[in-house]
Amino acid sequence: MTAATKRKPVDILNLAPKKRRSARPDENASNKWIEHIRDQDPGHGLASLKNFERVTSFRFAAAVLSKKTVERCISLLETWRNQALPTDTFRTTSRDPVTRAAMFVRSAKILEAGAELNILLLRLAELCFASEMDSAKAGSTRVGSDRINDVLRQLEWPQTKESRKALHNRLMKGRKWLSICGNFGSGLLCLIPFTSEAPYYISKDTCQQMDEAEIKEFQDLIGPKKGFVRSLCEFGNSLQKMVLESWDMEFRCETEKIISLNAYSEDELLSILQPVPYHETSIYETGYDWSRPQSWPWDWPIDPTWTPPDYRCDLCQATQCDCISSLTKNCCRIMHYGAKGRGIQVCASSRGGIAYKKDSYIGELTGQLVPPMTYTDGMALELHRPDIADEPVVCQVYCKEKGNWVRLVNHSCSPCARFVVKVVSGKVRVMLQAIRDIWDGGEVTANYGRDFFKNNDCLCEICEAEAQPNQGTNDLITRLPPSSQGQ
Ligand SMILES: [Zn+2]
Ligand SMILES: [Zn+2]
Repeated sequence: MTAATKRKPVDILNLAPKKRRSARPDENASNKWIEHIRDQDPGHGLASLKNFERVTSFRFAAAVLSKKTVERCISLLETWRNQALPTDTFRTTSRDPVTRAAMFVRSAKILEAGAELNILLLRLAELCFASEMDSAKAGSTRVGSDRINDVLRQLEWPQTKESRKALHNRLMKGRKWLSICGNFGSGLLCLIPFTSEAPYYISKDTCQQMDEAEIKEFQDLIGPKKGFVRSLCEFGNSLQKMVLESWDMEFRCETEKIISLNAYSEDELLSILQPVPYHETSIYETGYDWSRPQSWPWDWPIDPTWTPPDYRCDLCQATQCDCISSLTKNCCRIMHYGAKGRGIQVCASSRGGIAYKKDSYIGELTGQLVPPMTYTDGMALELHRPDIADEPVVCQVYCKEKGNWVRLVNHSCSPCARFVVKVVSGKVRVMLQAIRDIWDGGEVTANYGRDFFKNNDCLCEICEAEAQPNQGTNDLITRLPPSSQGQ
């Protein structure tokens, strides 16, 4: 068979435009890619990816639509939560080689994941740079050289050809990200693999080398799965917002035990990336058997945090106020604190400054208001009314199912905050109050009392240090096995 007989007859009236690169691959190559990806990533549907002309677009679309994307999203989130403790890697008080070996593997994983978060932020920085530059060009296709020179001056870089070229390259990279993200927006950056991995082999270079036709085909290919991609992009946007602004939220994948994502349907995958809803006020649950508290002076049953209209707010002394919604917002972040699990880190408006002054209020512990002694799982706080004779316990604030971030505050035997019952904006509330100045980056802790731990050991830094009196955490080198010393 000659080459000529293999070709399809050419319709000269409908000639396809000449493509710069990656012309239509022969069908075998395309099928090979589909088979290869099906083999390597069996969880992948690939159903919507049948007709494609460009292998790169196909690989790109397949990578974005893969379940591995969800894994990557979850891992980015975990990485971000671990950011506060870069020194926690390499630290262990154990002398057991297996425990120590596991710790080093965990460290390596954390550092690897950290590198991925950095790649995401680099992409985002490039995209934002291009978007700022292009917003300034006002209709013209080129960014004016004046603008480039202005930025160079601002950077205090020399006004040389090399500097201009460096800036121009950065601009090109940013524009490529803008173009790849298209209408999906910058949230899509989280969905693009960070390293070139089987079976998709999408690297930064692959992204940067994609031409307009490939990008267009990629967007067409993921088009039928728009809903799925948009949901993931929303997660991406939230994550970027968390990293760039002092703003935080919890996601369902953090509160649920996930064993294998492959067992999840597409809807389930999207649902675990949804935020956990927060309740800004406590909910009075009427479906319980409420017995009248001792010396309760008003009608019963009623919301046990109710106060008469002439009650004054403990914060501002007024009878009507909005103190509760004007507490400083967005100053707390959810972080991982090693064995203690998640906890709350404060961020001040200026780096290294005081986030909360002594005596200031950090937030309200919200939850379901249920009768006293209803729950004993450690997630309920008994609320007593100091304004009523004998200060009876009137309810529990149960925060396992419904609540806000305050429930994540960890216990410490030397806390920087405490829970106090106060009348604020017309209700009796459990408020978290700083008992000393809390500095930027510090963890908010409160004393939950000895009963809270029952038979478990306290994991706070004071008790941890007492439990390991002779094992500092900084003598890593001296504890390395002899064979690895002096090499
Ligand atoms: Zn007030
Ligand atoms: Zn302790």
